[in-house]
Amino acid sequence: MFAWIWRGLRTGIVTTRYPSAAEAMPSAYRGRIVIDLNRCDPAACRACADACLPRAIVVQRGTVRLDLGQCITCGLCLDACPTGALTMTNDFELAVRRREDLITQIRGVDHDGNAPTPTG
Ligand code: SF4
Ligand code: SF4
Repeated sequence: MFAWIWRGLRTGIVTTRYPSAAEAMPSAYRGRIVIDLNRCDPAACRACADACLPRAIVVQRGTVRLDLGQCITCGLCLDACPTGALTMTNDFELAVRRREDLITQIRGVDHDGNAPTPTG
């Protein structure tokens, strides 16, 4: 905060150059959550869904569905996931044109042993 004020006083620039040049976010910034398909097995686990208070993550019938439109980036799902499949990035550019583009849905390992796949 003070660094930002000091920079403004020193340079005379009080706004950022976004979107032509994005500001670096603090390392602790909580942004987009991503799911590692190779580590997630929603057919056998639903720990993230149980931890998610706003129900941004729902696990049903071997499919995990993450709705970034409902996510409050609390991080509880990351702590709950037993395989480390969830990562919180510092990506803050979540704007989309269609509501459904905020939703990630993956299907777990099927009975033939095929790997999880994104379904939308
Ligand atoms: S960060 Fe919080 S709100 Fe977002 S999906 Fe995880 S538990 Fe749910
Ligand atoms: S993301 Fe983690 S907690 Fe959620 S279903 Fe996959 S393995 Fe389980």
